[in-house]
Amino acid sequence: MTAQTLTPTAFVAARSRAHGPTVALWHAVELHRSECELDGACELTVCGALARVTTDERWPLAARDVCPACAVLTRC
Ligand SMILES: [Zn+2]
Repeated sequence: MTAQTLTPTAFVAARSRAHGPTVALWHAVELHRSECELDGACELTVCGALARVTTDERWPLAARDVCPACAVLTRC
């Protein structure tokens, strides 16, 4: 029997809303619950913003408008 306690952290993509000079960006949200619970929910992103989770998209995603802070923080 193999113990699998150290599973790598998974991330889902979340879309922030554009407000003021800030454009809408894709952020990463740590997947700490089941995906179905997170779908459509506003969650705290890796960079500390609030964004709506889209489980249709997987982090990292190949989009141009990706949050640079989340991209750096999730790189390992
Ligand atoms: Zn971010």
